[in-house]
Amino acid sequence: MNFSDFSLSKALLKGIGDKGFTSPSPIQEEALGPILEGQDLVGQAQTGTGKTAAFGLPLLEKTSKKKQVQGLVLCPTRELSIQVARELEDLGKYKKGVRVLAVYGGAPIGKQIQALREGAQIIVGTPGRVMDHLRRGTLNFSALKMVVLDEADEMFDMGFREDMKTILDQTPKKRQTCFFSATLGQEIREFSKLYQKNPHWVKIQKKDLTVEGIDQYYLEMEAKMKTEVLSRLLDLEDPRLAMVFCNTKRQVDRLTRDLTRRGYHADGLHGDLKQTQRDNVMNKFRQGTVEVLVATDVAARGLDVGAVDMVVNYDLPQDQEAYVHRIGRTGRAGKTGQAFSFVVGRDIYHLEEIMAYTKAHIEGRDLPTLKEVEAGIQERTLRELGRVLKDNQLDQEIQSLAPLLKREDPSRVAAALLVLYGQKNQETHHQALDRVDYGKPFRSTSRRKKSGKTPHERTSGAPKLWINRGRLDGINPKVVLAALHSEAGIPKNQVGNILIKEGHTLVDLPPRLLKESVKKLNGKKIRGQRVRVDLFKGKN
Ligand code: AMP
Repeated sequence: MNFSDFSLSKALLKGIGDKGFTSPSPIQEEALGPILEGQDLVGQAQTGTGKTAAFGLPLLEKTSKKKQVQGLVLCPTRELSIQVARELEDLGKYKKGVRVLAVYGGAPIGKQIQALREGAQIIVGTPGRVMDHLRRGTLNFSALKMVVLDEADEMFDMGFREDMKTILDQTPKKRQTCFFSATLGQEIREFSKLYQKNPHWVKIQKKDLTVEGIDQYYLEMEAKMKTEVLSRLLDLEDPRLAMVFCNTKRQVDRLTRDLTRRGYHADGLHGDLKQTQRDNVMNKFRQGTVEVLVATDVAARGLDVGAVDMVVNYDLPQDQEAYVHRIGRTGRAGKTGQAFSFVVGRDIYHLEEIMAYTKAHIEGRDLPTLKEVEAGIQERTLRELGRVLKDNQLDQEIQSLAPLLKREDPSRVAAALLVLYGQKNQETHHQALDRVDYGKPFRSTSRRKKSGKTPHERTSGAPKLWINRGRLDGINPKVVLAALHSEAGIPKNQVGNILIKEGHTLVDLPPRLLKESVKKLNGKKIRGQRVRVDLFKGKN
């Protein structure tokens, strides 16, 4: 399907082309038609699915140059408002005379009032600030044609329900109403009954978990080594933009402070920051003045920071889906990304579950030694030096070096410059790590039991059968045995260990029976639920 299959104007198709969208995303395929035709719609879709364009394109299409507010998009946060307004501006950039204005709290209201007076046709804003403008009479909805609630569930969660009602009650009855939400709870169903006419429902399945194109590593260490190891990784890998995840706000603050002290351009993002502070951090990150963004999962949710070169799980995430969301921020647009997970003590068990869930190969890496870091920096310097030699005339520099070169051996001069450069660039203050920097790779002692292997190494030896349902789906060994017997004809005595986790199950089977069992069981039902079955090879 193409965008040109929809009744979209040339101007919008041009805007779409400039954005680099080649074909509509699934939500766009399903929602563009009905919304363009004027239907009300409820779309269940998460950020990242292209939902903004799904409602934004029809909204822009239906908006005329008349200097009246014709479209309203309500968003839970200031950031999302800015993001949505920006996307609409981009898509509508060839549609002359249509202005999109973001209104949100925390910014001076005077400027917004002025901008409203000058005339904007589409308003994107947070419920609180939109209410404020309504009260002041600076917003007039009499010509409004379409209202969109974006991330409606978030707005309910944030306590905007009454504001949303008040706003909707003040819009003309004859309007088109679209709701977008990641989840469809009671409140949105009730709103749909109250405010929509015959809505069309669209549900976009959660994107298949994909961690392809991302090199994933884990590093075992003691908790106190984390910051030092992180700074070594940053120096070694030299990412342009790195995102580092912590599990608590306090840890975000502490790590941001420590990294800054070590000379990195780091900033932190968590739920306790004021909107203006968050905006500030995000702007710096986008402009590249921040190279390391430290964040909690909540703060990072829905943020559009583009591609990140490196993601670090400073703390291992508590649930497996969060792992996928975190590392999914790297390796976008066909680029290879890197993800590093820090593992302390018993985290290794948790990591094993993550591997089983994502079916990804996460490779163990030794902690980088100071020597390796220094060598890495020097190697990079030499590469950069090659580039400078190639791209520059250097006449002036040669002239200033001339007196020195008369006295000194040129290779010594070059070597001295390398030392100086290294000193200048090694802004960080590394600390030596016990063992790691004294010729012995770090080995965690807490988990090497009898076999001398990690649990992962112990269990990942042989391939297994992987089933995408687990304890939470009511799976127990009995039903697994029954299904293997009835669907794949495998006798009970051939089935080894059955490991039932929250969301999936791993079964040990003799290698000769594995492939056939995958084929036979895949797509069948266990406890009335269709299952996906695959080979799990773990780390091999
Ligand atoms: P959203 O879910 O609206 O936040 O969109 C997520 C990202 O996908 C944004 O950066 C959009 O610009 C981008 N996007 C939206 N639609 C498409 C499309 N059809 N093709 C490629 N990228 C898209």
